[in-house]
Amino acid sequence: MTDTTNRIKILPENISNKIAAGEVVQRPASVLKELLENSIDAEAKNIDVFIKAAGKTLIQIVDDGNGMSESDALASIERHATSKISTIDDLDAIRTFGFRGEALSSIKSVSKVEIKTRENNNELGTSLSIDEFGVKIEKGNFPKGTSISVKNLFYNTPGRRKFLKANPTELKHITDTFKRIALSYPSISFKLWNNDEIIFDFSSSELSGRIKQVIADNIFEGIIEVEEKTEFLNIIGYVAKPTFLKKSKGEQFLFVNNRFVVNRTVNHAVFSAYSHLLEKGEYPFFVLFLELDPQNVDVNVHPAKMEIKFDDEKNIYNFVKAVIRKSIGQYDLVPNIGFENSENTSTILKQENEEYVTKGDFSDRPNSSMNYNRNENKGIYKEDEIDLLFSNINPNMKKEVTNSNSKHPFEDNVYQHSSNISDENSEQNSSSFLISLHNKYILSPIKSGLMVIDQHVAHERILYDKAINSFDVDIPFSQQLLFAEEVKLDPADYDLLKSINTYLNQLGFELKFKKKNIVVINGVPSDVKSGFEVETLNGIIKEYRINEEEKHLEERDNLAKSFSCKTAIKAGDKLTEQEMRVLVDQLFATTMPYVCPHGRPIIIKIPLGEFDKRFGRT
Ligand code: ADP
Ligand code: MG
Repeated sequence: MTDTTNRIKILPENISNKIAAGEVVQRPASVLKELLENSIDAEAKNIDVFIKAAGKTLIQIVDDGNGMSESDALASIERHATSKISTIDDLDAIRTFGFRGEALSSIKSVSKVEIKTRENNNELGTSLSIDEFGVKIEKGNFPKGTSISVKNLFYNTPGRRKFLKANPTELKHITDTFKRIALSYPSISFKLWNNDEIIFDFSSSELSGRIKQVIADNIFEGIIEVEEKTEFLNIIGYVAKPTFLKKSKGEQFLFVNNRFVVNRTVNHAVFSAYSHLLEKGEYPFFVLFLELDPQNVDVNVHPAKMEIKFDDEKNIYNFVKAVIRKSIGQYDLVPNIGFENSENTSTILKQENEEYVTKGDFSDRPNSSMNYNRNENKGIYKEDEIDLLFSNINPNMKKEVTNSNSKHPFEDNVYQHSSNISDENSEQNSSSFLISLHNKYILSPIKSGLMVIDQHVAHERILYDKAINSFDVDIPFSQQLLFAEEVKLDPADYDLLKSINTYLNQLGFELKFKKKNIVVINGVPSDVKSGFEVETLNGIIKEYRINEEEKHLEERDNLAKSFSCKTAIKAGDKLTEQEMRVLVDQLFATTMPYVCPHGRPIIIKIPLGEFDKRFGRT
């Protein structure tokens, strides 16, 4: 055997660069990301981006940062050239920020790159034109900073060029990347031109101002500020108000240590903080910045991957969920309604008419304090907080409720709750009252004006929470019927009931499935009005089907919604004052008293100032 050929070859640099480029540069947006990050690292205050053909023919970034000397500029395009890591100790920086000194060398291997750059203390700047034949260097009078143009991306790798998507898709990737970076550096001003038309112009701003610029002005009325600082983790940002969920497009921005990332744990924590307000497939809007020791974050070193993992996902989950809940609870979520709008119900619900109530305005509701161990089903408010909130309508409750023989879904809670009412509360406002408006709305004077509660949706919220709770604790509470009811169903409904019978059972239904599609109702949840057992069951089946087909709700959520909708008192049902009190109190013991499970408001508030205005007192 005289095989002397070397089988192992060192790859020529241009080939290894192309391979590296496959990792770093996947599409125009990835070039944009790398170049923007370089400009930010160079301390630029103004960054202008020019795009042509969705970045396929041109991506140019012009910054006013530190610039580069001629030798640095030449070095910058070499593989593993970086000014950001020099010793092995800096290697952790790779883990945290992903500096690999590979961006420019990769980009230049798959496109034609031109760099014009000048440092502040140099009068003359340097221009480099780079293509497959080499580098052309020129000196010139350039503005301070760096301009890098990347032309004809993938011109020499047709396979990759073919892989690119149509312009609208690539442009979407570009604008997404641009927005994410702009959000994480609000003090830098960013502009983006697409085919000579300016599409984003973000002036230097605070985070809140940048959010307005990036997300759209009008969303600001519908979002809540989030801020919590601990030794372990800081979190700041904004989330959608529960009353705004349906109207806000669910865009999510998560930044960890100021880098845009994707993490399912955080997404899920935010989602669950809204306590059953969201349906499967719906996501709340949020912009959140988490800050924690980079040692506790596992950033994928792959430059194009955005998924990260936390060492302690469980703690992060609990923390984020608690903070978001607290933030939701800290705001006055009750829409303030002016009379001008009262004729048109559709405008009432529009967020534009909702007054943005700041943290200072807590004349009639308390701050909720953070409590990580709080029982989920107890809601976001502590009981004394609820009492305080409704101090002016609660005073007589204890006596009345304990004397009452009527059945209430949360009977036990009501007793507990009432016994907590402090003496202090019972002293004030003993004359306050609840009034029914057309057996539809409950009116109640509160310190800041008049509160109006929709009785049907209020009850719906109470029953919904109760249903969800009963699935979790699994101790059915059933009301036995004196005379069992028999219903003949159509076969499909019969099968449906059979398939969800476990859950129906947990709610308190006791059904027996006989032959010939006959169902015997032996017991029902205590909330079902007596004499209406069959009607209610049929209503639930109907509603369940609608939810299933239109909203693709998950079984339990669907049943809880169908049940609460069909069992709740209706608009037009007459309530005694005592029943109204119980309803109001139970409402405030739920997880989310302001919004019904379908996202409709439960309570609105007419501020005293509104009355003053109407009566010419101001
Ligand atoms: P990395 O950012 O990982 O260091 P890059 O290939 O992206 O690697 O950049 C290489 C080097 O080029 C950077 O470390 C920096 O010194 C220099 N550089 C790149 N872009 C700019 C810029 N816009 N302004 C100043 N220096 C830059
Ligand atoms: Mg870089």
